Amino acid sequence: MKASIITIGNEILSGMTLDTNSSFLARELGTIGIPVALKISVGDRADDINKTFKQALAQTDIILCTGGLGPTSDDITKKVAAKLFGLKLKFDKKILDHIRSRFAKRGIEMPACNRGQAMVPDKAEVLFNPEGTAPGLLFKKGKKILILMPGVPREMKAIFAGSLKERLEALSCRMKINMLTLRTTGISESAIAEKLIPFEKGLAKSILAYLPTHIGVDLRLTLSGKNSGQIDAKLLELSLKIKQLLGPVIYGQDEETMELIVGSLLKDKKLTLTTAESCTGGLIADRITNVSGSSDYYLGSIIAYSNILKEKMLGVKSQTLRLHGAVSKETAIEMAKGVRGRLGSDLGLAITGIAGPTGGTDKKPVGLVVMALAGPKGTVALEKRFLGQRRHIKESSAQAALNMLRLYLLKC
Ligand code: ATP
Repeated sequence: MKASIITIGNEILSGMTLDTNSSFLARELGTIGIPVALKISVGDRADDINKTFKQALAQTDIILCTGGLGPTSDDITKKVAAKLFGLKLKFDKKILDHIRSRFAKRGIEMPACNRGQAMVPDKAEVLFNPEGTAPGLLFKKGKKILILMPGVPREMKAIFAGSLKERLEALSCRMKINMLTLRTTGISESAIAEKLIPFEKGLAKSILAYLPTHIGVDLRLTLSGKNSGQIDAKLLELSLKIKQLLGPVIYGQDEETMELIVGSLLKDKKLTLTTAESCTGGLIADRITNVSGSSDYYLGSIIAYSNILKEKMLGVKSQTLRLHGAVSKETAIEMAKGVRGRLGSDLGLAITGIAGPTGGTDKKPVGLVVMALAGPKGTVALEKRFLGQRRHIKESSAQAALNMLRLYLLKC
């Protein structure tokens, strides 16, 4: 059994929209053992869509398609598929009620063009869309299956997770493929590889993948087999061996983010946090508050970008700034103590640095970042050097500061 993935939309062809849907679907199909034989992007033209459907139906058994199910005139996927399968569009009151209720929840009247989304091909199966107005549709002819989903990634994922994944899994007679990802930060890919030499000895090449980004290296373990439970047990065993070798550079697993881990540590230890940010401009606060329930432990932040605000808002001494500069351990420590004292938290985390591309000197180059953490047991400071563009340096800095906090909390 083979699958095709088709993504529809002029914006994908023009490069205005990055086609993340096809990579998501390809990964998901991979985990349930259905190989993807074709991946095609096509514009909003009926003729092209029709030809692409025919090609995919000729070469593969299951076609997953996203895009062009909306209410506007360029959304033609449904009509093309209905014609190809010889089906007529019929009105579905349940779908219209669902669309109306979504608009009502937002307190707005449903535009007339949304009515068209309640027209579905007779004999096509409707796949409920909990996140939007356009339902997914499943067409079947003999052993061939064509599935249409909206282009909006959130809606497509909800439909896929809602009913499709399980059904496709049942159709797949192949092996199950399960994965487990360990997330590291503050260590390079090559340093990890050195530490994992004893682990990798005798291990099949395809099992461990290194996935480096500027904020850390993810280690993905992949195993296949007939029994999902047995694969998961083996993955757990392998991950424990890696954890033993790498220690606390591993901060999380699978979807766990640094801010989630830091948040649960703060919660467990019943400690509150404030932040004082200069070069990251609020990025740390943004990440911490991405976690639902973060108000339990996070009080707030002062973004003190200028020296004047560092003095006025955080109490950094003008002499410290004059003698050591804004990017120095001395300033970072006073920022951390200042935010902790003035905003009244158990811990104060501060960061100051040169994100570039301008502002660097020989002594203090672009990418130099200093962070400090003030707490009941004293204050610690750390200097780091990052390479890359401004945004990368900001993101690397925020990650390093959160990691510093995590390591501190692990010892509390
Ligand atoms: P809508 O109901 O919003 O009109 P639709 O099914 O018609 O949904 P499109 O209009 O094709 O979908 O796309 C809606 C939005 O979804 C696009 O603006 C784009 O941001 C996003 N999108 C579409 N296709 C993809 C894709 N393949 N990968 C990532 N994002 C996509």
